[in-house]
Amino acid sequence: MQLQDILYSQGFGTRRICAGLIQQGRVAIHATGTREPTISQDATQDIDVEGLVLRVQGVDWPYQPKAYVMLHKPAGTECSQKPSAYPSIYTLLPAPLRQRPSKGSVDGVQAVGRLDQDTTGLLLLSDDGQFIHRMSSPKKHVPKVYRVTVKHPLTKEQVDRLLAGVVLDDDPRPVRAAACALVDAHVLDLTLTEGKYHQVKRMIAAVGNRVEALHRSHIGRLALPADMQPGEWRWLGEEELALLR
Ligand code: URA
Repeated sequence: MQLQDILYSQGFGTRRICAGLIQQGRVAIHATGTREPTISQDATQDIDVEGLVLRVQGVDWPYQPKAYVMLHKPAGTECSQKPSAYPSIYTLLPAPLRQRPSKGSVDGVQAVGRLDQDTTGLLLLSDDGQFIHRMSSPKKHVPKVYRVTVKHPLTKEQVDRLLAGVVLDDDPRPVRAAACALVDAHVLDLTLTEGKYHQVKRMIAAVGNRVEALHRSHIGRLALPADMQPGEWRWLGEEELALLR
């Protein structure tokens, strides 16, 4: 691949902008393991993309054929490209992730499912349509764990009803928690394998309690890293991706 095509594929702008960055000497690349740029300003050379790290305007950027990232979603953000009341989570991502060209209608990475504006925690984003489908389709039953803080002390009866299944207002079929682990009287780790609209809040309301705070800690076997601050994003490593397969 040529440097201009590589830059374009990573979301650094139109082909014209990418050519300009190269001509202005703002791009260097280094192969895996070498800290020093090994090639620069050569737009015509065929470059092996395996393990490639681009340095664009002084910032290192690992070449990724597909983007898989996690975000620690902060409260007060919407998982929409066109938010109605709060800032979009997409504003927390660097421009190349939002601009990566795609063969579909929308460029850039897309959130895998949505969290409410006041929900915090683990959110995945990708530009791999198959991955997004596999992680979010209700038929795939990928477990998601939510730490739920409730208003009133939890009773055994409430926990039993969440596990047995409750009927929500939009579907006569009951929805049930795959697991419920009490952390303390007001805090519960709830595992769901489907993702209906406001599902946790509606299930908790259906058993006579109320959600005060909601945080997603796990998707499948992947946990939100303890050292990730709200608003921070990271590439998913090979080992983390393997946890999601
Ligand atoms: N369930 C909810 O009620 N809200 C979320 O954000 C996620 C699951």
